[in-house]
Amino acid sequence: MRKKTRLSFSSVSIEAKKENKAPASSYNSGHSNGEYKNQERKKLTKSSTYQYSKFGKGQNRRGSRPFNSKSQFKNPNENKIPKLEEGKIRIIPLGGVEEIGKNMTAIEIGNDIIVIDAGMYFSNEDTPGVDYVIPNTTYLEEHKDKIRALFITHGHLDHIGGVPIVLSRIGNPPVYSRNISVLLMKKRQAEFPHLPPLKAIVVEKDETVMCGKIKVKFFGVTHTIPDSMGIIIETNNGWIVTPGDYKLDQVDGIVSEEEKKEYSIFDKAKVLLLMTDSTNIENEGFSLPEIKVHQGLENLIKKVSGRIIIAAFSSSITRLAYIIKIAESLGKKIAIDGRSMKTNIDVAIEANFFKPQKGTIVPIEEANNYPPNKMVILMTGAQGEEFAALSRAANKSHKKFAIKKGDTIILSASIVPGNERAVQKIKDNLSRQGVKIISFRTPGEDFVHATGHGNKEDIKWLHRKTHPKFFIPIHGNHFMLELHKELAMELGMSEENIVVPDNGSIIEISQDGQKIVMRKEKAPSAPMMVDGLAVSDIQDVVIRDRQMLAQDGMFVIIALIDQNTGKLKKSPDLISRGFVYLKENQELLRQVRIIIKKSVEDSTLKMNPIDFDHIKNNLGEIVSKFLFQKTAKRPLVIPVVLSV
Ligand SMILES: [Zn+2]
Ligand SMILES: [Zn+2]
Repeated sequence: MRKKTRLSFSSVSIEAKKENKAPASSYNSGHSNGEYKNQERKKLTKSSTYQYSKFGKGQNRRGSRPFNSKSQFKNPNENKIPKLEEGKIRIIPLGGVEEIGKNMTAIEIGNDIIVIDAGMYFSNEDTPGVDYVIPNTTYLEEHKDKIRALFITHGHLDHIGGVPIVLSRIGNPPVYSRNISVLLMKKRQAEFPHLPPLKAIVVEKDETVMCGKIKVKFFGVTHTIPDSMGIIIETNNGWIVTPGDYKLDQVDGIVSEEEKKEYSIFDKAKVLLLMTDSTNIENEGFSLPEIKVHQGLENLIKKVSGRIIIAAFSSSITRLAYIIKIAESLGKKIAIDGRSMKTNIDVAIEANFFKPQKGTIVPIEEANNYPPNKMVILMTGAQGEEFAALSRAANKSHKKFAIKKGDTIILSASIVPGNERAVQKIKDNLSRQGVKIISFRTPGEDFVHATGHGNKEDIKWLHRKTHPKFFIPIHGNHFMLELHKELAMELGMSEENIVVPDNGSIIEISQDGQKIVMRKEKAPSAPMMVDGLAVSDIQDVVIRDRQMLAQDGMFVIIALIDQNTGKLKKSPDLISRGFVYLKENQELLRQVRIIIKKSVEDSTLKMNPIDFDHIKNNLGEIVSKFLFQKTAKRPLVIPVVLSV
């Protein structure tokens, strides 16, 4: 019975994610009580959590909020978003404008909505334990009948990662993209067998499709993954253009003829609105062309006499294919280690992007069968990811592969902010094994990495080329979007023609195409967390609990009360996890027991019938305060009061 009670606590939190669509007030007030509303209450078995706070009593738990408060609660105006007026165009960036990742934008014209991209980002320190985060789909769910299609610019996870779940919530509309992106989406969809299959339609960059009454065209862009495309939406007042992720195919600022040709469609076009990537807005100059990285890697593969291990992003498909081609041409074998990398290379081969000969790619366990100078190994884990191939090799826990003295390790990737320490650790572990490490920062070495996003000069070029009337910066943190706005103004655009959005901003272009405004109402924008099988945009309580548990642990009190006498049936059970080690704190526990006994018996003294809720609240408040006074820690206190 007791054990069950404990379990039911954790199941309460998990269940509540799915069910709790309660208004802000119920989770505003703290947490758990609101969560139970939908729960079938077991007779007299109640629990909830308490944490000591100086500023209030009992349930007023302090602690940093994982998300900024404005996206915390459903927008009070959400239900008051007026219908789109005839002739106007509505643009709603639903994700990717307050962060790097989870890109998604909806465009509504007349009776039709199309959606561009449906990305994700992986959980970070703000969202402990969550698998990944996707954009909020509420607005789209509420306008399902108008959604005609989802367009995907390219196959990176910040553009396709949310596709399976997003589609299942918005009525599973058809998805348009180019071949490799569609193949990658199909692989991802296969991981969700319970969801309806993808209705994918492969398009080519010079095609035009009709979605309801909206005409959509594409153009090819250069990025680190093949088949990347920009999207053009034709409207009565001109084109809406978004290139997706791009960098220019240029060397020393001279843009290639091919690239110029691709963008020449804009020469005579009337571009109403440009929405474009702000990722590298802080980087001066043009971005380093990928071709220089290819040359650098080629030099190294030729020059290094021992075995070469290259760790890269599995999403840099163009580069991975190039490495395989070069190694093959030099008579070397390639082993690939890491699931996502294998999948992506398989997709590129399946799409005929490149075609290695039979026998070039060998299994990782055979890597030792070849002389070191005949072996190139591609691995995941350039970010120091704990379970990726390179980490396992670095800390000698890899079952099929071992680093050898004399190996050269090339980290062909930048370090994503936040991963610096993990990468340092992996470099330490590697260098202890007598290897040479070349990273994109190693002075005097060839280039081994370039960004996939355009720098400031690439961005300027795109603005000039598309010469839009209006501009919405997307893809980036807020400060990046602001910098992008400044850049657009430097290029001559007037401030009233630029809108810097937040996730969920509703932006409208007037009937005559002369004005762009942001409405005061917002579409719901709280990030939706995918946590196991559950998807929800209101996991505040759960996430906060995880953060609290990580900081100060938890303390469970199980008190058995005699219904008739109001006295404790026996000494209460106490369970501590991540708070204090019970064996070494017997005195503290003894005092806690005394306090519990006194608290229970004082409160039941004149009570008839006994109010178990009241006892529990009291207990939570008193014990959390006591523990704080004695230990300066604020564990989550969970009182469980049972009657017999
Ligand atoms: Zn990308
Ligand atoms: Zn991207």
